[in-house]
Amino acid sequence: MFRYAPALAVASAIATIALGCGKTDPPAETDRPVTTTTAPERDIHSYARPDEVRVTHVALDLSADFDARVLSGTATLKLQRTPSANQVVLDTKGLDIQRISGGGSDLKFALGGEDKILGRPLTVDLPPNVSEITIAYRTSPEAGALQWLQPSQTAGGKRPYLYSQGQAIFTRTWIPTQDSPSVRQTYSARITVPRDLHAVMSAEQLTPKGTETATGRTFEFRLTQPVPPYLIAIGVGDLAYRQLGPRTGVYTEPAMLDAAANELVDLEKMVTAAESLLGPYRWGRFDVLVLPPSFPLGGMENPRLTFATPTIIAGDRSLVSLIAHELAHSWSGNLVTNGTWSGFWLNEGFTTYVENRLMEVLYGADRARMLQVLDRRSLDTEIKRLGPTNKDTILNQDLSGRDPDDAVTDIAYEKGATFLRTIEATVGRENFDGFLRGYFDRHAFQSITTAEFLEDLRQHLLKGDRQLEERLKVQEWLYRPGLPDNAVVPSSGVLAHVEQDMKLFVDGTPAAAIKNSSSWSTQEWQHFVGSLPDKLSPAQLADLDRTFRLSERRNAEVLFAWLRVAIRNRYQPAMPALERFLTTQGRRKFLRPLYEDLMKTDWGKEDARRIYARARPLYHAMSTNTLDPIISGAKSGS
Ligand SMILES: [Zn+2]
Repeated sequence: MFRYAPALAVASAIATIALGCGKTDPPAETDRPVTTTTAPERDIHSYARPDEVRVTHVALDLSADFDARVLSGTATLKLQRTPSANQVVLDTKGLDIQRISGGGSDLKFALGGEDKILGRPLTVDLPPNVSEITIAYRTSPEAGALQWLQPSQTAGGKRPYLYSQGQAIFTRTWIPTQDSPSVRQTYSARITVPRDLHAVMSAEQLTPKGTETATGRTFEFRLTQPVPPYLIAIGVGDLAYRQLGPRTGVYTEPAMLDAAANELVDLEKMVTAAESLLGPYRWGRFDVLVLPPSFPLGGMENPRLTFATPTIIAGDRSLVSLIAHELAHSWSGNLVTNGTWSGFWLNEGFTTYVENRLMEVLYGADRARMLQVLDRRSLDTEIKRLGPTNKDTILNQDLSGRDPDDAVTDIAYEKGATFLRTIEATVGRENFDGFLRGYFDRHAFQSITTAEFLEDLRQHLLKGDRQLEERLKVQEWLYRPGLPDNAVVPSSGVLAHVEQDMKLFVDGTPAAAIKNSSSWSTQEWQHFVGSLPDKLSPAQLADLDRTFRLSERRNAEVLFAWLRVAIRNRYQPAMPALERFLTTQGRRKFLRPLYEDLMKTDWGKEDARRIYARARPLYHAMSTNTLDPIISGAKSGS
């Protein structure tokens, strides 16, 4: 997923690696031994016991009821059993389980007690020889994964919308399965929706236009590559599609199609660039679904169909690093997955690193370096916010007793990427690229832990060189808080000029005298606004706003940076823009810091509560879970 806290991408140069084969195809479902993909570290966020019985395939047959806000139907699970196992344990949360059958008869099942974070275990008795069970169930209208939007919350305004967000442990709120990233599953689905709506999933579309049935329109899907269940995703709405290249295209509401297609015009080029760096793209298509504004994330790397926030539609393709990020997940995250959520950095740190390499290939070293500098600032800010000895600054996280989603910060992304860039700088790009390429091949379609990564690093890169391992401070990077002192320091000549201009302004030069600003890129604006000192005079704020029209910016990143400055200085003329921004998009990366900043002031608390009460219905559960405690004062914004 793209970024929780502020920032964009990471970096370096090209190094073309010849396309090779590696493990291009996933192992056939039946050939996969029970233990191959099991991480030795237990997944504390799942009730499943996959070393006894493992789900290998999920077949959904569901209908969407937009009035009741419920999905109902069946999930048929294929199971791989060890000889002695006679029960399968699944994860559920808020599901109404009606009936379970297998081998031609009803099966005995029990739902365990409710855990606030994990939900309830569903234990099903398995008669001998039963390797497929069918569960009839309904979701709850409050299912955390699903957001049901009123027509008024969409771009078109006429039809309702539904989308899902499975990461980290939301999938169990709409599918009863083993909801652990260590349990890879293939899936198929039949989804019935009202006739005037269109369903898409993170899978191959077998019936792109759907088939008319007695109750609506039915769409069929299939994903033959085994994925962690958090990658099973659905979107339903008034959707149109435009092809952008042989393997690429965009889905969105008709009203947004032209803008989205224009913004994503480089999609096919991106896939080709990624292949030159990482090896073959193994998922067939790379389409993007641009969602309504409430989507809580920047993007979500659902296979074959990345979900993206409309806030990337800047009009000038300046925020497409987000798409490079989601594309990079096709390798780091989707192909090689964190086996437990403690190793989330394996998904996000690698992806943030690769994202910046892609930006370098596509848009040049200058832009990549600018993005690195912005990222490093985010990392420093995050470590400062958390405190350098806080255990949440450790890459391999301790998540006991916590929802993995609550523990998401910039650390997994930026400290993870900085670690990989430090290795690259130490061993040389060519060596590191060779390792990276091999890493994705060696662990393709597997889920691994930090310990397994370390083993792989030692075997294939460090090769017994103890001095090198010490010089890299590998243990410190992975298992200790703060930032090790060998971290590479990115620099950008372009942004250094911007800083000089910023200093001139602070020292009294009028904004209009900053000559180069008319040609600044988004990244330069982000840096300029983000580098401003904490306190500015009312005259300086007014000068900036009047000259650069910052409160009117449509670019979400620049506007966001400016609104933080405005709150810090209680700059009232920007408050209508702040309220508009908070009530027209639901991206948590933007919402959390702005609400936190307001709640930290004496004068802004009231406004924050009032705006939140109005906007909350727009936001996804992922955002409200984060924001509720901030607004209620249960969590200080520090
Ligand atoms: Zn991500």
